[in-house]
Order: sequence, then C-alpha cells, then structure tokens
Amino acid sequence: MQTSPYQQEQHEAILMVSTHIGTLSSCQIEALKTASREYLMFRDDVDTFLNTYFAAICTQKCFQSSLSACCSREGIITFFADIVINALFSTLDEQKFLLTVLQKPNTGPKCVYLGPHGCLWRIKPIVCQMFLCDAAMIRIFQDNPTAESTWNVLKNREKQFTWPDKKVLFEDLEMFFIDAGHASSLMYLHNSPGLLLVKKRAGR
Ligand code: SF4
Ligand code: SF4
Repeated sequence: MQTSPYQQEQHEAILMVSTHIGTLSSCQIEALKTASREYLMFRDDVDTFLNTYFAAICTQKCFQSSLSACCSREGIITFFADIVINALFSTLDEQKFLLTVLQKPNTGPKCVYLGPHGCLWRIKPIVCQMFLCDAAMIRIFQDNPTAESTWNVLKNREKQFTWPDKKVLFEDLEMFFIDAGHASSLMYLHNSPGLLLVKKRAGR
C-alpha cells in the first residue's frame, strides 16, 4: 500500500522546511521565532479559551468515545506557515517523527498526524486550532454569550496573522522561503486563487 498524495505533499513541504531551517544561522532562526511570538501569544489565548469553555464537552462527546470529528479526516489543510512555525519550535526528533509517520500508509479513517496521545504537531495547524463543531458551539454558546463574543474576537485576531488583505505573518514566512529559492503547493498566500483575490481587492 502506498502513501497518499496528501502524505507525499506534506512530506515534501516538511522536509523542505526542516532542511532549510537546518542551514540557517542561530540569528536567522531567532529572528523567525521573534516574528512568530505574537502569533504564539494568540495561540495561548485560544488554548485558554478552549480549556475554559470546551474541554468538558469535547472530553465527554469525543475523547471518551474516541469519535472526535476534529481529527477524523484523512488530511486537514495545513498552511506552509503552519509547517514553518511548528518546525521552529519543535525538536529535530519531533520533526523526524512527522516525516516517518508520513512515509507509512494511513490505513484508518483518522488524520495521519493523530498519535496515541493526540496530535503529533507541537503547534498544530491553525485550521485545527480554530475548528469547533456546530454541536459543541450550540451547546456552549446558547447559555454563554460572553463565550461566543470572546470566540468572535479570537476569530478576528486569527485574521491578523493569516488573512492577506494586509501584510501578515503567514505571508511573510512563505516569502522568506520563496526568497531562498523554495516553492511549495502549500504556499496558499502566494498561490491560492481565493487568497490572491483578497490581496487584489485590498489593492496589494
Ligand atoms: S469540537 Fe466537537 S468534534 Fe471536536 S472534539 Fe469538541 S465536541 Fe468533538
Ligand atoms: S493535525 Fe493534529 S489536530 Fe489537526 S486533524 Fe490532524 S491530529 Fe487533529
């Protein structure tokens, strides 16, 4: 059994990022980490929000029954910047483990990155971080308008890093690798027709 085109695409991008980061000076790596700090603070805030409002329902609805809809697809969308940020803050062994997993055929209906103790990424993709199923949202938000408004604020903050109607971190990280001569199909902020239209409409 062969690995899927999704796995091959992910493997190619992760290997490229990991290899290129391995050639950078400690100053260059530190500069990339510094550029990502505000994003990591945002991610911490999302974690706090999810732990406060959703941990109980997610545990009860999905984790105890192992039926989580969050991680049950073969593959989820990952931005190129997701891969860069995860690599910057992961150990070499963690990066190698992702590559190993991607080289084995994925036989189950679950995400290839789902390990026995949860997601194998140190900083999981933004699409995963910001996904809440409708049933959980209805249950939590119907009695708690404050939670809903906090979630809406977080969704807007996400755009400050990912939505290219202005210069954003996810675009900058792609550009850093493009400038170094690399290209990836996952560089959506430079190759997705929808996101290119966002830039065009914003006069960029
Ligand atoms: S968001 Fe929904 S699908 Fe995901 S773990 Fe929570 S209850 Fe389950
Ligand atoms: S990348 Fe991680 S969080 Fe996202 S679907 Fe896969 S296992 Fe779940």
